[in-house]
Amino acid sequence: MEMITLKDVAKQYGDIKALKNISLEVMKGEVFSVIGPNGSGKTTLLRIMAGIEAPTKGTVIFDGEEVDGKNLVKLRRRGTMVFQKTALFNTTVFGNIAYGLKLRQFPQQEIKERVIDALDIVKLHGYEERLTKSLSGGEQQRVALARALVLETDVLFLDEPTANLDPKSVSVIEETITWINRERNTTVVLATHNMYQAETLGNRTMLIINGEISQIGQSKEIFTLPSTQLADFTRVENIFSGISTMRVEGTPIVTLDNGLKIEAAHGSGGRVTLFIRPEDIILSKDRIVSSARNVFAGQIAGIIDLGPLVKLRVDAGREFVVQITKRSFIEMGLNIDSHVFLTFKASSVHVL
Ligand code: ATP
Repeated sequence: MEMITLKDVAKQYGDIKALKNISLEVMKGEVFSVIGPNGSGKTTLLRIMAGIEAPTKGTVIFDGEEVDGKNLVKLRRRGTMVFQKTALFNTTVFGNIAYGLKLRQFPQQEIKERVIDALDIVKLHGYEERLTKSLSGGEQQRVALARALVLETDVLFLDEPTANLDPKSVSVIEETITWINRERNTTVVLATHNMYQAETLGNRTMLIINGEISQIGQSKEIFTLPSTQLADFTRVENIFSGISTMRVEGTPIVTLDNGLKIEAAHGSGGRVTLFIRPEDIILSKDRIVSSARNVFAGQIAGIIDLGPLVKLRVDAGREFVVQITKRSFIEMGLNIDSHVFLTFKASSVHVL
């Protein structure tokens, strides 16, 4: 059953065509992820689906009802949106999460129970009386998610909910998305830059480029079938192409153009594209003994400070991007030109 159907939806801001003739269905109970580069139209698409914005052209059908001026307010209440940077009210965590329930005139006892449950889900148990301004960015985003969860709407729209957050908050948010979808059967529409998130959380994934659907399908297929658009998708890091040969045990080894050999756990032979997520690469100063099949020596070529996280460009014959916490970065005493080792498992290598 369809939860949301878009038919020939277009959105224009002055001369900018943010969306061009988009037709798609989001099914009830699925996690539908939308990936695409900056400015490709992800936010606009979510805002139109959520009824926050009207399309310039085309039709939006929400749970069987065509959205129009008469039913808009009623239908809009069946979804909640969490933004990349959701502004919280400058009060307590409890006050923030309870707000929507108070507006909807829920009894006090039920408000309390729902708030406590939601805080447990986002792993902020006992935070009720904390002031939101005293929380870290990741904690604030988890409060924003809890504020959406308590409303128990049919659809949750998440617009880049984990961009630039600490790894702990990213994993709590990812687990919460999976939980709410499985336990409550909530339909989730997730816009993300992060193709790994789309791959692991989304039942289906849509790649949007320049306001147009470039690819749409089961996430598994999208990420296993070769696609040049996906490979060209600008924000992807650690994406390499090479020639894959199958070993006797049936696992591929991929030789990159400069001779570097990368072992993978799955994939086919021939010319392939592969990627490794930056957070799956272990960075160490000395060679570590582990079961991981891929170990490369390299030198730090660039340092990008992301607040609680640091992204490092490491030249190991090819340039790899690795992400570590600021704390590890400081503790390890790293700097430009530091000699390091990169270690990652064959199962962390995604072959397209
Ligand atoms: P990002 O990843 O940077 O958030 P996005 O994929 O969400 O990008 P949108 O925010 O939907 O992309 O923007 C699509 C296009 O529409 C962009 O060119 C943007 O500049 C433009 N746009 C979006 N909102 C407006 C607006 N209110 N007025 C004018 N142009 C807009």
